[in-house]
Amino acid sequence: MNDRIRVRFAPSPTGALHLGGVRTALFNYLFAKHHGGDFLLRVEDTDQNRFVPGAEEYIVEALKWCGLTVDEGVGVGGPHAPYRQSERKELYDHHARELLATGHAYLAFDSADDLNQRRAAAEADGKTFTYGADNRATMKNSLTLPPDEVKKLVDAGAPRVIRFKMPENEELILQDIIRGEVRFNTALLDDKVLFKADGMPTYHLANVVDDHLMAISHVIRGEEWLTSLPLHALLYRAFGWEMPSFAHLPLILKPVGNGKLSKRDGNKMGFPVFPLEFTDPDTGEKWRGYREDGYLPDAFINMLALLGWNPGTEQEIFSLAELAEQFSLERVNKSGARFSPDKAKWFNHKYLQERPDADLAADLALLLQRDGIQRDAPTLEKICRLLKERANFVADIRDASQYFFRAPETYDDKSRKKCWRPETPALIADLARLLEGITPFTAAATETAVRQWATDRETGLGKIMNPFRLAVIGLADGPHLFEIIEILGKTETLTRLDTAINRLQVEN
Ligand code: GLU
Repeated sequence: MNDRIRVRFAPSPTGALHLGGVRTALFNYLFAKHHGGDFLLRVEDTDQNRFVPGAEEYIVEALKWCGLTVDEGVGVGGPHAPYRQSERKELYDHHARELLATGHAYLAFDSADDLNQRRAAAEADGKTFTYGADNRATMKNSLTLPPDEVKKLVDAGAPRVIRFKMPENEELILQDIIRGEVRFNTALLDDKVLFKADGMPTYHLANVVDDHLMAISHVIRGEEWLTSLPLHALLYRAFGWEMPSFAHLPLILKPVGNGKLSKRDGNKMGFPVFPLEFTDPDTGEKWRGYREDGYLPDAFINMLALLGWNPGTEQEIFSLAELAEQFSLERVNKSGARFSPDKAKWFNHKYLQERPDADLAADLALLLQRDGIQRDAPTLEKICRLLKERANFVADIRDASQYFFRAPETYDDKSRKKCWRPETPALIADLARLLEGITPFTAAATETAVRQWATDRETGLGKIMNPFRLAVIGLADGPHLFEIIEILGKTETLTRLDTAINRLQVEN
């Protein structure tokens, strides 16, 4: 095997890629980039029954959104094309025959009925039926039938599968980069089907053949595949191939309680578990996506990277390039990583603060457009600069910015009771006169003038600012008021003061 680091993300297009899948892709990508190696995308679509239309496109789009550029594979091509397993059938067929020829596999002709009967009989005895070393001699296969009968059946096109001949009782000691030594006894393993009656290989055969032919150096995948490791190791041995290194990533756990994070948890607790929105073509069920929920891809990736990996320092904010620089499989934990929707929001908040105001404004413009609101870019930029500190998403800025686009229709009652005194209307009328004379109507100019005016008339600034704010935005708090009125402009500010004077009830 050459020394080049080559890893692959090998999803099955059985539905939308969930958080855990994206994290597997990410860790593969980071490992490849850290070592200057290749990141491949292989689509494992040999299980026709579980094929979901649109799933492959979804996967490609999700990786793109996350910025995980594929070096070789589906959608990109490369020296080992095709990268879609359904287009590589002959290769698997050829390799399955090789295993038959070397005695590592055999043909099995048992019908579904035969197998069901055996299962039922075992169950009646309180046992579970597994096709393996214990009973393969009692089944209908090329190990038990005379060769000429096998030939006859094959020539007649009898339905058959190819099974792996599992060694009877062997202790396998294997290495996992994250878990260290892992042991398996083959006595507990069955004769897995490698090739199905429909002419398609199973996952195990196709996966091992492709990892070898595509010169994969490291297999990095979810913990749920650890139980397949002994079979895969034995397949490499049967073919006489060197094994890649293996790393099985920890599970992503539910935010609360026990167990693996599931797509239902997201709906129950109100957070997305998919990178992009997804409509299940079978059920019509709709699933939220991080992208559509307003997450920035870099924030999403940063959050995912820390689910199971840690840099060994306090650093939490990483660009994709920094992650690639620092990533190592040795710093991936064995134990499950608990997912936190709040932490996901926290990351988005952090990235939102760093985003150029012009970009935020462009996103805000799109959201406002849906509500029929249009404003020039410089105004929207100012609004974003003012409101982003308290926002996790651009949608939060939209929600908090409504008073820029509409004069208040109601006024915060608590604040009104507290600050709208009998003398307030006259005070606000005076303030309006003061503001009318200020040109240009900038935050700095109005603030200086109002402060001076308050000093001159010996009125506490608080006495002015609270009703002033209430009159302009209808709320008791918000960002710097002078910045707000600069954005609103003089005319609108004066109109709102006038409206408040006429509409607000004085509290005695
Ligand atoms: N096709 C498998 C999946 O859907 C790939 C497992 C592996 O990476 O070996 O996750």
